[in-house]
Amino acid sequence: MGESVLTAPGVADAAALLRDAGLVRDGGRLGMAGASLEAIAARIGTPAYVYAAEPIRARYRELASAFAEIPHRIHYAVKANSTLAVLGLLADLGAGADIVSVGELERVRRAGIPLDQVVFSGVGKTEAELEVAVASGLSSINLESTGELELLERVVAGTGAAAPARVGIRINPDLSPVTHPYITTGSTGTKFGVTPAEALAMASRIGANPRLVLTSLAMHLGSQLLDPAPYRDGAVRLLELRERLTGRSRETVSAIDLGGGFGIRYLDEQPLEPARLAAAIAPVLRGTGLELHVEPGRFLVGSAGVLLTRVLYRKRSGRKTFVVVDAAMNDLLRPSHYQARHAVVEVVERGRPSAPVDIVGPVCESGDFLAIDQELPGVEPGELLVVLCVGAYGYAMASNYNTRARPPEVMIDRGRFAIARPRETIDHLMWLERRDPFADEAP
Ligand SMILES: *Cc1c(COP(=O)(O)O)cnc(C)c1O
Repeated sequence: MGESVLTAPGVADAAALLRDAGLVRDGGRLGMAGASLEAIAARIGTPAYVYAAEPIRARYRELASAFAEIPHRIHYAVKANSTLAVLGLLADLGAGADIVSVGELERVRRAGIPLDQVVFSGVGKTEAELEVAVASGLSSINLESTGELELLERVVAGTGAAAPARVGIRINPDLSPVTHPYITTGSTGTKFGVTPAEALAMASRIGANPRLVLTSLAMHLGSQLLDPAPYRDGAVRLLELRERLTGRSRETVSAIDLGGGFGIRYLDEQPLEPARLAAAIAPVLRGTGLELHVEPGRFLVGSAGVLLTRVLYRKRSGRKTFVVVDAAMNDLLRPSHYQARHAVVEVVERGRPSAPVDIVGPVCESGDFLAIDQELPGVEPGELLVVLCVGAYGYAMASNYNTRARPPEVMIDRGRFAIARPRETIDHLMWLERRDPFADEAP
C-alpha cells in the first residue's frame, strides 16, 4: 500500500519525508523511531507533539562532520524548540546555543550547555538582559545597533568584571535570499543588523574600550534557505569588512558567524545539505585563521517532530470538505502565520481513496487551519493523523488562545517514549490571574 496522501502534488519523495522524521510504516501502521504512535495517543492523548531523539542526533552529526575540516562551532538556535529535553540532547552532543532572551539563557543553563558556548542575538536586548549576559561570560553578545552598544558600554562601566565582555556585530549583508517575507532578515529594510559603515564605526568604539572585545562578525540571512550561495556571498562580505577594521578590533576578531536558516524538506524541497554548504563556504574561509560559527535551529529539530492529532468531524460546506481535528492554530501556528505547508498522513492506513480537504482546528478563526486543499484519504472521526516536520517553531510558538491547554511533548529514544512536558491543565492557564485585581494587597 502506497503513501496515498504523500502522492499529493508537492510531495516528490514521500519515503525521504518519512525517513527524515524516523517514521516507518509497518503493515499500514505508522511507527516512529521504534515506538507506536497509536500507543502514544492511547497513553497520552491528543493533540501531542512527538519528537524522535535519533534524527536530531543524526542531523547534528551530519553538520559536524560536514564542517570537520573547518574549525567551527555549532550554536543551536534555541528559539526553534526550547524544550529542556531537546536542549539536553543537544548539550550531550556538545552543541553550543544561540539565544534571544534571558529566559532562553536560563533554559540553556539548566540543560547544561556551557555559557561560554552561548551567543546572545536579538535586536531588542534590555539593560537587565545585557547585565545578565555580561555576568554570565557568554561566548558573544551580538550587537545589532549603535544604541545597543551605548547601553552595553554603560553596563560594563558599572561592573568590576576581570575579563572584557566578548561581543559580535551583526551585519546586514544586504542579500535577499528567496524565502517568506516574515523570515527574511538579511536585506536592508528589515529590522536586523547594521550596515557595514555602521559596523566599522562600532568596531572602532569597541576596540577603544578595554571592557569590551570584538570577537566576531555575524550575519543571519533568514530562515528555510535551500541555496548555499547566499552563505558564501555573506561570508565574502564579512571577510571584506574584517579587512577594513582598524585598531584593536582588527586583531581580536576570531570568528565569523554565518547564522542559521538551513532549509529542510517539508514537501518536495531539496534540503540544504551540510556537505554542499561546507563546500561553498570552506574555500572562502581557508587560510583566514577564523573560526566558523553557525546557528541552525530548524535544521536540527524540524524534521524530528510530528503533531499527533485525532479527527473529530468531517463536514462539507459549499464545495469544500473540512476535516475538523483536535489540534488547532494555537498548537501549530505556522500554517496560518507563514502560509507554511506541512504534509499530513494517517497513522493507520486504510486504503481509502483520497480527495482534497481542508484540515482545520476548533479555534474560532477562519485562519485556523493546519492544511488547505491537502490530498487526504477519507478519514473518519476518531482516526489519528500526524502533521509532519513540526519539531521547529511548533510547540515553541504554541499559545493558549481560546483558553486551550498546550499539548504535551513526548520524546522517543531507543524505542521507548517518555513525557518531556505534560499537557497543561486548566489550572495552569489561570494560576497567575486575579478575578478581583483591586481586592489584592500584593503589589
Ligand atoms: C532564528 C535565528 C536562527 C535560526 O534560524 P533557523 O531558520 O531556525 O535555522 C539563527 N540565528 C539567529 C540570529 C536567529 O534569529
